[in-house]
Amino acid sequence: MTTKLLQPRLLAAIDTRSASIRQLMQGRLVDDEPGVRAHLDLHNPAEEDDAQADAQSDLDAALLERYHEELRVLEAARARIVAGEFGVCLECGAAVPEARLLAAPESPWCVECQSRAEAGAHRPTL
Ligand SMILES: [Zn+2]
Repeated sequence: MTTKLLQPRLLAAIDTRSASIRQLMQGRLVDDEPGVRAHLDLHNPAEEDDAQADAQSDLDAALLERYHEELRVLEAARARIVAGEFGVCLECGAAVPEARLLAAPESPWCVECQSRAEAGAHRPTL
């Protein structure tokens, strides 16, 4: 299985993406009030109420939530890659081309299944 040779490159791609997302998150935090960092780490519901009073904070919270989701997806992808469960679409079992693996290492699906998911007709589950 030649995909085994891809493993270190995919892990590097995952790590690079994770690092840049974390940097984006840090960038948001620098401009924000100190409480946001605690909010990010602890996800305190009481602080979420405070954030809702401020539209900008809402926007930041939504953005941070998206970053969190992306990191979660990347972590899941990293676990699959470490386990050697990659190179095959989780939805239809088709082989995923090397170029796609490298371009989107976090995606567990082939191009076709991904397109279907984005069209909303069918949503594969992780
Ligand atoms: Zn597929």
